[in-house]
Amino acid sequence: MQTISTYLLERVGLSVEERAGRLQSVNSSFSDWLAQKGVTDPNTAAGEFESETPGGGGRYTREVVDVDGEYAEELILRERANESQEFVTRVCLIGSQDKVSVYASVSASNINTKISPRPTNGRCPAVLRDVIRRHGDWELNDAALPSGKPQHFYDTDGGIEVCRIILSGQRKFPLVLVSQQRGEFVWDALDRKIASDLVGLGYVSTINEEAAKEVSRRLGRKFACFDGAVRIYWPSGGTALDQMASSVWTPERMLESPIHSNAEDRFRSLLRYRVMSAAALSISEPPEISAAFRAQARKRLADLHRTASDSAEAWEIANSLVSDLDAAQRKLVEITAELSMERTRAENAEAQLEYARNNPPANESDAHAGVDDELNDDEAQDDIAPGEVIYYKKIYSTPNHDVMRRRGDCGHNRWTAAHSADKAWKGVEKLEGRDDWQSFHHCDRCDGGGMWKVVW
Ligand SMILES: [Zn+2]
Repeated sequence: MQTISTYLLERVGLSVEERAGRLQSVNSSFSDWLAQKGVTDPNTAAGEFESETPGGGGRYTREVVDVDGEYAEELILRERANESQEFVTRVCLIGSQDKVSVYASVSASNINTKISPRPTNGRCPAVLRDVIRRHGDWELNDAALPSGKPQHFYDTDGGIEVCRIILSGQRKFPLVLVSQQRGEFVWDALDRKIASDLVGLGYVSTINEEAAKEVSRRLGRKFACFDGAVRIYWPSGGTALDQMASSVWTPERMLESPIHSNAEDRFRSLLRYRVMSAAALSISEPPEISAAFRAQARKRLADLHRTASDSAEAWEIANSLVSDLDAAQRKLVEITAELSMERTRAENAEAQLEYARNNPPANESDAHAGVDDELNDDEAQDDIAPGEVIYYKKIYSTPNHDVMRRRGDCGHNRWTAAHSADKAWKGVEKLEGRDDWQSFHHCDRCDGGGMWKVVW
């Protein structure tokens, strides 16, 4: 089992009625979610449903305890992700004194033991989006929860303001800054898409070119973000600039992708992975959840003591306690395994942070360090099927022809027919050893005009 991401939403200072209303509302979000999954009666304690993935399926368990004014609800949903993995989403709702919290974890679990790298393209569970959408006042650690919408900063004043937020020692969430180049983001609506990807986990802000200049002036080149770049500023303990951890992606790196992939999807999933794995290491389960379930077990024992004359009921309760013990035992094994994995990942994350501190990238990225292999692995040219679409990037030019390499789709949608592109035509012909393509288009949005789409 591998935790992909965790979430924690809190709301404190609620009156008795407000607390009851909030618990009710989140509880109905849980039910709506199950109903959307195809569960006919979401209020039953366990059930199954058909999965969107053919041949897959899903099942859930739902448990509520309400003891002495402490409320806890746990919903665990297991869905088959592919033939070797299932996704486990666990959402918990806790009402304790004047506080309501929602905790969620998304994990991937192997169906059969296999030692291989596992793709874990995590997303925020729909149920959590719904809970955040219904109430705009969730917090974590006294900080407003990222709402899923970007905030925009313009010109010098905006630059000053965004620097204040970046440097604030009070900030609890990562901030992702999205800059513009000639009034555009690298992809249309990139800011909104990233903000939605990182709902509950990271703030997303945009800056125009003037604001970006101010950011460079104030933070220096080492922490600048301009010309379409995207940068993560992790929260830091102090306000000293040199203690801040940060990574940046330039448009050039963002647009780079291996063949048969889409650069935009790839970049977004990389960014999600970065923020989600940090969240998985930082947000832990509130102790109130297991406390409430333990309190319930204790209460049932006390009841048993009073009514022990009824042996059938006593047997039933004892039996259910043994099942609880079994479940706890299984969970312990899972958690121990997970802990050793988390420890390794924590060490890796520390090493990465250390590396980032010692090698401050000047509007340049360390982010693709592990991905470059993947780019090179894909270089082997295979046979081209009729009708196949292949993307090419100009690597450099010679006096006669361009030197081309296969690439993934840049993710732009501004292809124009290339009627006179002798050097590009010759480049592709040289690379593929043939020139019988059906169409030859050029991306107007990619910088330098070096991106081509060829239908064979
Ligand atoms: Zn393009």
